[in-house]
Amino acid sequence: MHLSLTELGQWWLNGIFHDGRRYTVFAIAVWFTLWVVLRRLIRPRKIREATPPARQLVLELMFSLRSIAVYSTVGIGINLGERAGLYPMSGAAQHWGWAWFVVAAVAMIVAQDAYIYVVHRWMHRPRWFRTFHRRHHKSNNPSPFSAYSFDLGEALLMVGFVAVWPAIFPTPWGVVDIFMFHQIFRNTLLHSGYELTPARRDGRPWFDFLTTTTHHDLHHAQAAYNFAPWFTWLDRWFGTEHPEYQARYAATAQRPMRARPEPDRDLVEA
Ligand SMILES: [Zn+2]
Ligand SMILES: [Zn+2]
Repeated sequence: MHLSLTELGQWWLNGIFHDGRRYTVFAIAVWFTLWVVLRRLIRPRKIREATPPARQLVLELMFSLRSIAVYSTVGIGINLGERAGLYPMSGAAQHWGWAWFVVAAVAMIVAQDAYIYVVHRWMHRPRWFRTFHRRHHKSNNPSPFSAYSFDLGEALLMVGFVAVWPAIFPTPWGVVDIFMFHQIFRNTLLHSGYELTPARRDGRPWFDFLTTTTHHDLHHAQAAYNFAPWFTWLDRWFGTEHPEYQARYAATAQRPMRARPEPDRDLVEA
C-alpha cells in the first residue's frame, strides 16, 4: 500500500493521540481510585508515609506522555516494517491458533522481563545513569504517573524490545496488544504507592514469583536492588533482591485493615 506523507503524518498523529489518551485515562483512573476514592479505606496498605507533591505528578505525566509518543512513533515503524515483510515469522504465526497465541504471549512477557533486567542493571552503571535513567529516579517516591517517566534514551531502549522481538520470535500481532496492556497495567500499579497483593499466612505474597509494588518501591528508594519489572526470579538468581524485601512487604500487607488509620499527615501538611 502506498501512503502519501500527509497520510503518514495523520496516521502518526492519530497513533500518538490514541496511545496517549489510553495511557492518561488508565493512569488517572488508577490514581483517582487509589489516591482519592479508596484513600482512607486502604490507608494501612500505603507503603510510605509521605505523599509526593502534585508538581511531581504533573511532571511525571508529561514525561510519560513523551515516552508514549516515542512508543507510537516506533509503532508506526513496526507497522510499516510489517507491510514491507520485515516480520515473516510473526506474519505466519497469525494462523497458528490460540494455543500458540498463549505461548507467544507468555514468551514475550518473560523475555521482556529478562531484557529489562539486563538493560536496567546496565543503566544503573554510573557512566550511563545520567543519560538514560536519571529521569525515572527523580521519582524517589513514585506515583501512578511515574510508570513511563523516562529519559528519551530509556524510552527508546524500552520500545526497542517491541520492535525486535516479533522479528526473532513468531508473535501474532494480537499478542503485542495484550503485551502492551499487561505492561501499562502492571507498571502503573507497581508505581502506585499502595501494596495491594494479598499476603499468605507466612507473610509472603500470593504468587510470590510476581513482583509486588513493595518490590519496585524499594528499587526507587534504594537503587541497588530489585531490577526486574514483572517476576522475582532474576533478582533471586543473581542475588539482587533487596535483603529486607519480604519483611517490608509483610509489614505493609499484613497491617490490620481495621487498625485505626494513622492521622492523615498529607492533609495536615498540605
Ligand atoms: Zn520505576
Ligand atoms: Zn532503576
